[in-house]
Amino acid sequence: MSLNTRSPISQANTTTLTPCVYIAMRCPHCGELRLALATAPNSGEIACPLCAKLCVFVLLGAGLTTTPLPFHELQSSARLRCWIAHLAPTDCS
Ligand SMILES: [Zn+2]
Repeated sequence: MSLNTRSPISQANTTTLTPCVYIAMRCPHCGELRLALATAPNSGEIACPLCAKLCVFVLLGAGLTTTPLPFHELQSSARLRCWIAHLAPTDCS
């Protein structure tokens, strides 16, 4: 029995990869977050996507995503430190 009930058209849509840049930031209100943006920010600070406070960020690197940009997710401290140390999220799971 197959769990794949998607049509060929929706499969094509969900496999589209978009280039993006990943950054990590620590907001004093919201905690540590990871963001994916279409382009890297020009300044050394970026507004928190949750509360709009300007925060210093770390550029993690370029990647590809199937999620519409921009998006963000809250990050655990240990996993975020792993990201920054290795710049390889697949090593952190
Ligand atoms: Zn915030």
